[in-house]
Amino acid sequence: MSLSTDTIAAISTPAGPGAIGILRLSGPGAASIAEKCFKPLGRKGLREHKPRELVYGDLLDSGGQPIDRVLCTYSMGPSSYTGEDTAELQCHGSPMVLALGLEALFAAGARQAGAGEFTRRAFLNGRLDLAQAEAVGDLLSARSREGARHAAGQLAGALSRKIGDIYSALVDVMAHFHAVLDYPDEDIDPFRLEELDNALSNQEGELNALLASCGRGKLLREGVPCAIVGRPNAGKSSLLNAMLGWDRAIVTDIPGTTRDTVEERCELGGVPLRLIDTAGLRDTDDPVEKLGVERSRKAMEEAGLILVLIDASRPAGDEDFALLHEAVALAPTILVWTKGDLPAVPCPVKRYEEIGCPAVTVSAKVRDLDELCNEISCAFPQDLWGGYGEILTNARQEEAASRAREAVRRARGALRAGVTPDALLTDVEEALAALGELTGQAVREDVTDRIFSKFCVGK
Ligand code: GDP
Repeated sequence: MSLSTDTIAAISTPAGPGAIGILRLSGPGAASIAEKCFKPLGRKGLREHKPRELVYGDLLDSGGQPIDRVLCTYSMGPSSYTGEDTAELQCHGSPMVLALGLEALFAAGARQAGAGEFTRRAFLNGRLDLAQAEAVGDLLSARSREGARHAAGQLAGALSRKIGDIYSALVDVMAHFHAVLDYPDEDIDPFRLEELDNALSNQEGELNALLASCGRGKLLREGVPCAIVGRPNAGKSSLLNAMLGWDRAIVTDIPGTTRDTVEERCELGGVPLRLIDTAGLRDTDDPVEKLGVERSRKAMEEAGLILVLIDASRPAGDEDFALLHEAVALAPTILVWTKGDLPAVPCPVKRYEEIGCPAVTVSAKVRDLDELCNEISCAFPQDLWGGYGEILTNARQEEAASRAREAVRRARGALRAGVTPDALLTDVEEALAALGELTGQAVREDVTDRIFSKFCVGK
């Protein structure tokens, strides 16, 4: 248990007016401070009610004047989010009420909580491990449904369990080497050697799979880079705006309006996307437009998905055909026939079909994107993201997992080379230490400081 002697308080809901605003307290004085600032409407005092009961009453300032009519609840540690005594005041979501309420809590003995301090206390009190605490941060900043579901899975312990399984298998291996060390005159029999090698190899495989999930974690966090390309006036900026649901890019019928790349995040067909609207691809002498065209090509090279737009209301040309060829060679590509609300001109469909990428029709004007949504879902099906929460989502986790894998690899190499058990033990212990860092069993204080400083105040 942590030894915090002080009680922290913060506004836990976002700034600005809202239906409800929450003031939160954690620490040994939580319930008594809440009691000083809150007067139930009934005859019973706050702590005469059961913990976790919602009690209706007045929030009072330090002079006893009412600030708001609120609901208050308290919990006793260790059965609380932080593991300490906590109290929560559910006020009306007025920034002024919350500011006055917070002042009242300070006057009654609480101090302002630092960024992430509630979750940090939960971690220090063993209510969450570090991977789960990081998942709280990911959950708050999730920008797609999939990202939120993965963070929720991680918070529920999916990653921690996976790491726990690897940890426990390695502890078994270590226990065996310790036994051998106790009887140094006996050789490890070949059958046992093979068994140990298999155990290490299995865990190396598990770590490989975990490390392979980093790419998916990055895509969930940052979105799949999706380049929107096509000839000038194909409808790229209009499609970007329609996908976003608001007018981000300038739309005109003057070719060459978008000269730089425009980036925005959205979610379509359940897939988190980082949309990159590019300058229209055409030969040009204008130096600024030329630079834009170069950036468009770069966006295609770095894309995880390319949408090649062709105006269905005009005859398609060789340039469109060449662009489609180029895109298909670089990344998964969808051919998007635009301006589906206008009469379509006949096109050499066969020529496009031969390229073999899926084709859809959209209308940005009437915001008909159904076919495109379906096709994007097919390109990135849900099972691609793996089991919810069983992925590494940040560089710290990746670095620790990769150190664990290297140590397991070294242990295997040493085992095969017939190195003495004590040297092998050092490698396995290193792997265990790295896994311990992942869940926070063994992690330096400056690392936890860095992690929690990224949280918002009140979490
Ligand atoms: P970009 O140069 O490829 O970015 O094309 P824009 O998005 O700027 O659009 C070029 C022109 O086509 C503009 O006049 C748009 O209003 C028009 N346009 C774009 N999408 C649609 C659509 O779905 N339907 C219709 N009727 N016009 C569209």
